[in-house]
Amino acid sequence: MTQMPPIVGSSVIQVAGAAASLAMLTATHSHIVWCKVISSTSFRTASTAVFLVITARLATKSLRELRARGIIGTVKDLYKFCARNFFRFMMTLPGIKEKVNAELDKTLARMEEEMVPRGPGITRHLELPKQGWTDDLVVSELHELAQMKHSLWEAGRVSGGVYHGGEDMLKLQTEAYGMFSVANQLHPDIFPGVRKMEAEVVSMVLRMYNAPESGVGASTSGGTESLLMACLAAKMKGWHEKGIIEPEIVAPVTIHAGFDKAAYYFGIKLRHAPLDPVTYKVDLKAVRRLINSNTVLIAGSAPNFPHGIIDDIEGLSEIAVKHNIPLHVDACLGSFVIPFMEKVYSEIDSTVTVPLFDFRVKGVTSISCDTHKYGFAPKGSSVIMYRDAKLRRYQYFLATDWSGGVYASPTLAGSRPGALMAGCWATLMRIGENGYVESCRNIVSAARSIRLAIQNEFECLYVLGQPIGSVVAFSSETLNIYDIADGLLKKGWHLSALQNPAAIHIACTRLTITAVAELISDLREVVAQVETHIVAGEKKQQGDTAMLYGVAGSISTHGIVDELAVGFLDTLYKV
Ligand SMILES: *Cc1c(COP(=O)(O)O)cnc(C)c1O
Repeated sequence: MTQMPPIVGSSVIQVAGAAASLAMLTATHSHIVWCKVISSTSFRTASTAVFLVITARLATKSLRELRARGIIGTVKDLYKFCARNFFRFMMTLPGIKEKVNAELDKTLARMEEEMVPRGPGITRHLELPKQGWTDDLVVSELHELAQMKHSLWEAGRVSGGVYHGGEDMLKLQTEAYGMFSVANQLHPDIFPGVRKMEAEVVSMVLRMYNAPESGVGASTSGGTESLLMACLAAKMKGWHEKGIIEPEIVAPVTIHAGFDKAAYYFGIKLRHAPLDPVTYKVDLKAVRRLINSNTVLIAGSAPNFPHGIIDDIEGLSEIAVKHNIPLHVDACLGSFVIPFMEKVYSEIDSTVTVPLFDFRVKGVTSISCDTHKYGFAPKGSSVIMYRDAKLRRYQYFLATDWSGGVYASPTLAGSRPGALMAGCWATLMRIGENGYVESCRNIVSAARSIRLAIQNEFECLYVLGQPIGSVVAFSSETLNIYDIADGLLKKGWHLSALQNPAAIHIACTRLTITAVAELISDLREVVAQVETHIVAGEKKQQGDTAMLYGVAGSISTHGIVDELAVGFLDTLYKV
């Protein structure tokens, strides 16, 4: 593992060569002695060579970008880049800067007011209590914290967010939790039961996804960590096996932001492929254009978060196999729904064919599946799977010379909460295949009813693509869809806002199932309201969603959204 890939050596030589020639060029201006050298043909040959190498590299890079985005795409990108930076610069000018900051401060203050409760009746605990509390006092305070004003997830009015397995399940999970609350997967010798449970959970999920005999995996803290591991393993594979030092990943624009995070953490370039405008699946032609010799991973979703659409995994696989590049399928959201969809659709609607998405597809090398979504395990658990152990080995971290002893860790975290693993194992065993098939049937049917209602009963709304899973995204050509989101919010519905293109979605959960009819009737009212406002030509005050995405969607104000997002994160830590 300490071996340097050959290309590192050659690039060192290149850099050294460039540095030497640069030193020579600098010297030309100051030392007459060098005149001789300059006039010598050997120098001219050398400098020409360096010039050619640099030009060739620049040309390759530029051509690569041009091929990836096409001429029109490149011009558009360039325009967007320049315009955004121009407006960012404008906002730093005196006069404008103060105005923008004042607006920002106002918005952030409002955000803080909403998120951070203060005032009479609220005690803030800023430091350790001098004297520890009694059990009773802690519990009564916990009750108050649990009852703070919040979105009404219990009534099924929140998209995704809470993946609830029922009251009885919560009890069982709490019991499992309690029994293993000190357990740590870092110490399998002390907690052999937790090791056994983790291995078994991974095995169960591998079988659900039709892994071959060679299939392996690991449990992680959540979908994002699973994605981080898949990207890291692919990056290290590319480095060790192909000598790739500027790794790139090709993934649809709809891939989860966890990929952007992986790119940020691990120094990878993420190349986003656009979608087919009709199916909303990733455009395979675009994927082909984005691939080059630095590509270490291709990815698709089954299904994606924004639109609930399953990418053409078989099509991606063909490309991956042809170029000998690993292929990751993000089934974090599909989790414990998509593996049972084939069976469920054969019962509820045989005209729907569920495309292949798992290890049955030859080119698929890794899959992420969240046990804490439709697996209903307690939050903080997911599984990353690989076709074989060689690829998993690249995500392992070793520090065998550490003064603290020989150290080896399979995933991001060091210590890992055994209690969560016990909760996860207990959940999977309790629900079982029959339970997950049943939950898949209910969730998919609920999403299907919403999709059909929107398609058939709302002339002004349309569904994005043909989603067959738990998520339905919709938008409008005539109405501002964010106004509809804000109208629904007033009625207690928290749907997710999407952008590029503007849309909103609902991810159905067990809690949504009984709320479908209410959602449709509320949606009908809200649409009617928004329409009357338009007919009346009223300038209604914009709601939060419309305002935020109005700012985010405009080139001139785009930079402000970064400030708002940072302000939001800062606010999380205010007491
Ligand atoms: C939820 C989700 C993830 C991972 O999210 P976490 O919040 O880290 O668990 C990844 N991909 C998709 C498609 C998702 O919906």
